[in-house]
Amino acid sequence: MSAEVECVQKMLEDHGITHTRQREEILSLFIMESKHYKPDEIFKLLRGKGIGIATVYRTLEMLRECGLIKEISVGKDRFYELKNQESKHIYVHFKCNKCGKFFDYYNIEAVQEYVSNVETVEKDMNVKVNDVNINLYGLCSKCKC
Ligand SMILES: [Zn+2]
Repeated sequence: MSAEVECVQKMLEDHGITHTRQREEILSLFIMESKHYKPDEIFKLLRGKGIGIATVYRTLEMLRECGLIKEISVGKDRFYELKNQESKHIYVHFKCNKCGKFFDYYNIEAVQEYVSNVETVEKDMNVKVNDVNINLYGLCSKCKC
């Protein structure tokens, strides 16, 4: 058994989720590659394994309710990502208003100043922020010329 599979099984167990092959396959996708997925992308990736679109939607909803993954809405699109369990997680997304393309931005250092503002909010409000979502909209490199 690979470390990833063990990790997935433990996550399901810790969250009180009955272990099924479908749930394991779907959660594995999020763990193997740290990116966001649309439900139909997951369906396409797992179609060969006999997992239907209804199961994909049902499983995503369940994993979201248990706090294992989170839903991000950008305009009309809905994406799902693994929820970081420990520290504050920063998600930076860019959506092109013209072609509708969606990009992830991983340079967390570049948004560090933004995050320190969040720490001020935490202090002022006496809250603990776990996730920071930064959604940027504009024109992508192709569309802006
Ligand atoms: Zn574009």
